[in-house]
Amino acid sequence: MVDKSPTIGILALQGAVREHQRAIERCGAKALPIKRPVELALVDGLIIPGGESTTIGKLMAEYGFLEPIRRRAAEGLAVFGTCAGLILLAKETVEGSEHLLRLMDIKARRNAFGRQVDSFEADISIDAFEPPAFRAMFIRAPWIEDAGAGVRVLAGYNGRAVLVQEARFLACAFHPELTNDLRLHRYFIEEVMKGEVGCQATQNGRP
Ligand code: GLN
Repeated sequence: MVDKSPTIGILALQGAVREHQRAIERCGAKALPIKRPVELALVDGLIIPGGESTTIGKLMAEYGFLEPIRRRAAEGLAVFGTCAGLILLAKETVEGSEHLLRLMDIKARRNAFGRQVDSFEADISIDAFEPPAFRAMFIRAPWIEDAGAGVRVLAGYNGRAVLVQEARFLACAFHPELTNDLRLHRYFIEEVMKGEVGCQATQNGRP
């Protein structure tokens, strides 16, 4: 149940866990780093942080996270994936990544912005947010190559979708936890978590 002060789990296998924890706490919610699948029962929402999607995917498979997360998502757990987390939420990647949650009807392209612009910051305007623009930090970021009809594109950069929502799933290609702007974390807690439950996942995670 989502109450006044929901608990947000942050998958703590690898990546930018502490920064998300701080952002969630600054929003007035409880943050719980998740290291074991059994802890998923304690949370109302889950963040899958940036890091290295291949590593996080392998660790999720090894520690038995894939099915329990899919099961909780089918029951209504809201999930927010940032950067590598976006890749892990996708139903597929251009590269054919192996261990994905496949909860969202999106196809991600890894390291999409190329070597010259490995990491950069850009002001992006987010549909549903008032100005000012959101300062987005992209670090070897993916973009969304394709999205199904049920996916809402909330922001783009250079003509590419970089922030999308599908029912209770939110995914962005950049790192909102590395800036002081809490609007996206708030949006997850206040809008996405209360939104419509709609889950693509079936037993093997494929829609
Ligand atoms: N390039 C990384 C990957 O493919 C994602 C980078 C990030 O999360 N900052 O997993």
